[in-house]
Amino acid sequence: MNVMCGIVGIASNFMEDRSIGVLLKEALLRLEYRGYDSAGIATIYNNKLYIKKDKGTIKEIHRKINFDDLLGNCGIGHTRWATHGSPNLINAHPHCDCNDRIAVVHNGIIENFYELKNKLISKGHVFKSETDTEVIPHLIESHLKGRVRRSSVEEAIEKTIRELKGTYAIVVIYVGLPDTIFCVRNENPLVIGINSNAIYCASDITAFLPMTNKVLMLNNNEIATITSNRIEINNTNLEETDINDRKIVRISWTPEMAQKGGRPHFMQKEIHEQPIAISNTLKIDWNKILKFGEYIHNTPPGNIYITAAGTSYHAALAGKYMFTKIANTQIHPVISSEFREYIGNTLNNDSLLIAISQSGETADTINAIDFAKQQGAKIISITNVLGSNITRKSDYFIYTQAGPEIGVAATKTFSVQLTSLALCSLGLAELNGSLLNNEILEFKNRLNNIPMIIKNFISSKEEKVRIIANKYYQNKNFLFLGRGVNYPTALEGALKLKEISYLHAEGYAAGESKHGPIAMIEKDYPVIFVAAPDETYDKILGNVMEMKARGAKIFSIIQENDQTIKTLSDDFIEIPRNIDLPFSPIVYIVPLQLFSYYVAIKCGYDPDKPRNLAKSVTVP
Ligand code: GLU
Repeated sequence: MNVMCGIVGIASNFMEDRSIGVLLKEALLRLEYRGYDSAGIATIYNNKLYIKKDKGTIKEIHRKINFDDLLGNCGIGHTRWATHGSPNLINAHPHCDCNDRIAVVHNGIIENFYELKNKLISKGHVFKSETDTEVIPHLIESHLKGRVRRSSVEEAIEKTIRELKGTYAIVVIYVGLPDTIFCVRNENPLVIGINSNAIYCASDITAFLPMTNKVLMLNNNEIATITSNRIEINNTNLEETDINDRKIVRISWTPEMAQKGGRPHFMQKEIHEQPIAISNTLKIDWNKILKFGEYIHNTPPGNIYITAAGTSYHAALAGKYMFTKIANTQIHPVISSEFREYIGNTLNNDSLLIAISQSGETADTINAIDFAKQQGAKIISITNVLGSNITRKSDYFIYTQAGPEIGVAATKTFSVQLTSLALCSLGLAELNGSLLNNEILEFKNRLNNIPMIIKNFISSKEEKVRIIANKYYQNKNFLFLGRGVNYPTALEGALKLKEISYLHAEGYAAGESKHGPIAMIEKDYPVIFVAAPDETYDKILGNVMEMKARGAKIFSIIQENDQTIKTLSDDFIEIPRNIDLPFSPIVYIVPLQLFSYYVAIKCGYDPDKPRNLAKSVTVP
């Protein structure tokens, strides 16, 4: 499963009529759909390493520095989605060792890079970039001794990955071996493609699909040593894996299907990527969470605001409930486009604004930030795009780890925003003592179970949600109700349905439903309840009864074995137990995302490209 950008390696016998530079550039262009911020290529020619890289789109970079004249029999390429260090020329991949003999492209995150980097610096290694990746070529360099052969590079890579903590797919070239590429992976994807003139490896098969559909999957912790006509695969204990045991499969996907990982839509792929996106976000360095929390902790009560637009606003609102519940701290949620009028001139040097934006480019949110800054407020933000406008305008930011999201309707970026807010509420609780350290640890442990819970939930319940969606798609109006922290879940569920199914859906605080919306209810009017068993449960049960009494068709999202609401519901989806209720939106939103997806499909719409909407709204 992929959450970040693309890598590619090619070992050719030079029978192709195009240069290796052209081949690598074309492979990168085919990985372009993933979104990225910079790109680069390295090849070996005449005993020298040639590297071209920069910030920008592949076409822009190519126009500037021309990838096509890169020569050689083998090379590597990268499209970067920055996680460590902003997107610029220096941080773009490939990265090298001290003597420019080893070049590496990497997809993923090296969690212990800081410690490794310090160790390497103390041994005299000189680093050029801020990336986590750069430790890899330096570690390989430190393990390469004596005369260099294929086996010694392989051994050095093997020793290197023993030192790495984190997720990675890596491709390496060494200047003394101009016909060989080495690759290895742990969690991040890497597939090998084979044709008669060349062997490829890449993050996904789209990179080489026009050349070959003969594919070999590399398993976690296997190192492949590849030349144009030979692949040798060893596991990381350097025990040989018999290549004949490995199945070469012929893929019948079209390039478009391959981009979507074999799924019909990016939205579905991204819903399925939530476990890995959340699990990556849960790995955010705790010190960063504490530093973020310190800004909140040091702000006088009553002076903390949180702002966002669209789905991010729903995350912000859920975050508000989490901060209240977990850290006993008040923050005021304000919709970004309303910020100026709502706040007026009431901010000062003691004020703090927390801004949330997936793209980091949302114009309404940027306007709110600028307005707050003018009055002296400090800005901290949560965004999914490093180097974005909002990160530059912020005093401090946390970077969620969803990877690029291509479907216009936000799904995985919502769950990682919720996850990072959950972490921040725990960080704040540590700082202000509203929870004991062991309680925080228990909360964190249970948060760590959420990726697996969602994974199992999707695999066991997706079909049931699809069947329910097929029952409801002909309704023209929907009411989504929730209470407490799941009031924002109801809002988000309604928004998803509006966005991609164009059906009228209203999200409402369940308690408010009898102050107006209940007048709309007639026989078979669909009302969707998000009914987690928290302290609001009895009240929401009352709301379910009220709706039922008026003939509404009830579809509820409940905790498993909630017999009471189950009996009152026409349809229900059960969520596993053992989820801390203040953090329940992270899981309870998943069936609603799937519901809107399948309603859109049944209505015949393309959920990836909802009409009138753009992925990142950069106009106010
Ligand atoms: N962590 C690496 C970086 O920030 C790799 C990111 C990627 O997968 O593109 O450069």
